[in-house]
Formats: sequence, C-alpha cells, structure tokens
Amino acid sequence: MRHFAVVGSGPGGFYTAEALGKAYGEGARVDIIDRYPVPYGLVRFGVAPDHQSLKAVSKRYDQTADSDGVDFIGNVTVGRDVSISELLEHYDAVVLAIGAPHDRKLGIPGEDLPGVIGSAAFVGWYNGHPEFAGLDPPLGGTHAAVIGNGNVALDCARILSKSRGELEGGDIVNHALDALETSPIETVTILGRRGPLQISMTPKELGELGHLEAATPVVDPADFPPADADEALEPGQRKSVTLLREYAAAGPDKSKRNKMVFDFYAKPLRIEGDGKAERIVIERTKLDASDSAIGTGEIYEVPASLIISSIGYSTPPLEGVPYDERGGKFLNENGKIDERLYCVGWARRGPTGTIGTNRPDGYEVAAQIETEMPPGSSSDRPGAEGLKALLATRNVMPTDYDDWRKIEQTESANARPGSPREKFVRVEDWLKALDR
Ligand SMILES: Cc1cc2nc3c(=O)[nH]c(=O)nc-3n(C[C@H](O)[C@H](O)[C@H](O)COP(=O)(O)OP(=O)(O)OC[C@H]3O[C@@H](n4cnc5c(N)ncnc54)[C@H](O)[C@@H]3O)c2cc1C
Repeated sequence: MRHFAVVGSGPGGFYTAEALGKAYGEGARVDIIDRYPVPYGLVRFGVAPDHQSLKAVSKRYDQTADSDGVDFIGNVTVGRDVSISELLEHYDAVVLAIGAPHDRKLGIPGEDLPGVIGSAAFVGWYNGHPEFAGLDPPLGGTHAAVIGNGNVALDCARILSKSRGELEGGDIVNHALDALETSPIETVTILGRRGPLQISMTPKELGELGHLEAATPVVDPADFPPADADEALEPGQRKSVTLLREYAAAGPDKSKRNKMVFDFYAKPLRIEGDGKAERIVIERTKLDASDSAIGTGEIYEVPASLIISSIGYSTPPLEGVPYDERGGKFLNENGKIDERLYCVGWARRGPTGTIGTNRPDGYEVAAQIETEMPPGSSSDRPGAEGLKALLATRNVMPTDYDDWRKIEQTESANARPGSPREKFVRVEDWLKALDR
C-alpha cells in the first residue's frame, strides 16, 4: 500500500487525486488535505458568482472524492497545523496544490491608502471567503477603477456594474449583494498598460458586456491599429479584439446608467488622495517594436474612490520548500520540487490558465510518481491514520467529505430564491453547522 497527500482541494489538487486514484486503484490511499472544511479552492472562492455553469466542474471533483481510496481531510492548514517534513514522514509522496492566493503589489506610491484593494480580497469578499468577509470595500463614490487587463479584472468590473437582478441568481453572498445594490458607482475604468490587442480577456467574458442590463462598455476607436493587425493574432485573441472593435464602433449605449470604460495605454504612476484613495495619476504609454509599453510623458488623472489592483497572484512560501521569489511559486522542475515532494496548479506554474489547464498538470505529476513508485510497490508509512493521531495531539479536528455535504445542504437550504446557495462566510459557522 502507498499513501499520498495532496495539499489543496482546488482543481490542481482534485485532478492529481483523480489521476493517482486511477493509476493505483486499491494499491494507494490518496488524502486531499485542505485548510477549510469546504473544497474546490477558487472554483468556490474565485470563479465569478454570476458564472454558475463553470462551477459545475465541482461535480467531477465530487466523483473523485467519492471514489474508493480517496479521502478529504479538511480544516487542516499545512505549515501551521502540520509541517511539510511531518507530512513526508507520514506519506510516500506529498503534492502541493495550494494555489496562489496572495495579491501581487502594484509597487507604486499610494497603494496602501484606504480604498486600494487587491482583487483576491475583493473577489473573496463577494464570494464569501472567510479571510475577506469583513473587507467592507468603499463603494460610496461614483467612480471606481480596476488595474489590469485580464479576466479577473473584468470579473471585478462586471460585478461592480451589474444590477441586483443580474446578480441575485448566482451565489454572490448577501452582504455583497446588498452593498452593491446601494452603491452609487456609475463608472468603472479598466486600466491596461498596453493596447486592446494585448489584453488577456477571453471572448465569452468580453461578449457578455454587450448584453448587460445596467452597464455598457466604452471603448475608444482611436486605440486600435489598422484591422489587418488582427490577422497575426491567435483565433481566440482575434475574437476578443473583434468584440472590442465592435463596442468601439457602436459607441456606448446611452440608455444604460453604468459605464465600463476601457482605458488602454495607461500606466499608473501613483495613487493620490486626502487620507484615502481619490484618484490615480497615469502616464500615457505607447508600444515599442516588441509590444512593450513605454511612457510618452503625457500625464492625466482618473478619479476613483475604490481602486482594485488585479495584476497577478503569488503562492505563499512554506517552510522547508524551495521558493521562486520572482515567479511567486515553488521552485520545481516539471512539478518536482524534491525527493517525494511535488507541486501542481498555480503553485507550480504561477497564476495563469483556466480550470482545465490544471488537469494535464495533475496527470503529469501523478505519472512521475507512478514511475518512481510503481503501482504494486509499498512502504510502511502510516498515511492518514498517523496524521490524524498527530493532529489530535495538537487539538486539530479534521473534517471529512460527509461534513462538507452537511455544510453544502445547509448552504442550499439557506439560499435566497433562485440562488444555489448562501455561503457561510466564517470558519466558525462552518463548524457550527457540524455541531462542533
Ligand atoms: C478571481 C478568479 C476567477 C477565475 N475565474 C475562472 C473562470 O471563470 N474560469 C476558469 O476556467 N478559471 C478561472 N480562474 C482560474 C482557476 O480558478 C484556477 O486555474 C484554479 O483554481 C487553480 O487551481 P489550484 O488548484 O492551483 O488553486 P486553488 O483553486 O486556489 O486551490 C488551492 C487550494 O489550496 C488550499 N490551501 C491553500 N493553502 C493551504 C494550506 N497551507 N494548507 C492546506 N490547504 C491550503 C485552498 O484552501 C484551496 O482549496 C479564476 C481565477 C481567479 C483568481
């Protein structure tokens, strides 16, 4: 018998467990360990609450958790409740799938002013992440700005711009739904250092902007190079750029109250305000021959009392695990960190790619483990039994997948009409739902 620990129950963790389960069958036990009693990582806490169909992937993860040989051990924070070296004593291999939950800093003056928030915090707030439930973002002004030109930036801008009716069918938490409904924000400026051809936004997300009830996209036709420049783009990117060109050509829909303004060639220099964020000072850029943004010396200001920076994420270091400071992820070669220690998902690659991108990652690392410890081989490491005994000495009470089912049932029973669930937003409430 082999024992494997997968740390993190997001897509990276679940695809790895799925692959290990298939490869070893009854010859191994795979424990998926998570710091929370609720699984799925960013599928629960990141994916936008108005994009419910994407969360259906969790059904596949449930099948993995229900399969023989795979167990869920929740409410255990690795690095705090148990160290990596202790996990390696108990398991034949340890796979780190802890994601990249920390916001990258902008590195400009004024970014610590009240009103400037990282997208992980803002997204966590509307998605019921316990760390950010109390965030209370300043929604009292008429102008907000989002710094970044990826899908997460677009998620933040869209959530700020949608009507209550458009949001309440999803699983946005009530505290966010109520606060957004009464917010007077009318303009959300989306700032990108480069141009419309360099965005990292996908067609589905951009296409939605043409059909919003309360908001209209605003794109300046002067920002585009001649149309034949699009021919060199890969097809998905070309589709995205075509959508932006269409919005630019149509002009904003004046019947809509809210504007989502795309401000390209915009490099934030500093954030200013009297004790809180009031404006972003920006330098206009242009592209050089290699499509990098270079300053033009033209300076202007964008008013914003809420500024969300969405410029990337990093993995927190873990004691004893080699770390790539520049990449903000674990140092690894094809997912291998050290003997019997691996990483997958965002902790391996950095914060890029979709949910599905994590699948080949997980399968590749499982295949490496299989080569190094062929199915049929065994060891006398104790696995979950030993880990749970150790945790008991530290008064850590792990939860399992049945516990998650109970929480899930309570969340769906508490849901407002039309919504799939009302998430608990505090760890204590999860445990209370389990009578702990
Ligand atoms: C805001 C946002 C929106 C997104 N929207 C989409 C989308 O619409 N479509 C799409 O395809 N992709 C989307 N993505 C990307 C997708 O969510 C990621 O590709 C994917 O979640 C990465 O998986 P992961 O397993 O590496 O990390 P995560 O999903 O972050 O999972 C990490 C897990 O590790 C656990 N963990 C962390 N630290 C510890 C610890 N010390 N001990 C124990 N457990 C720990 C966490 O609780 C979590 O469960 C989005 C990402 C973000 C940030």
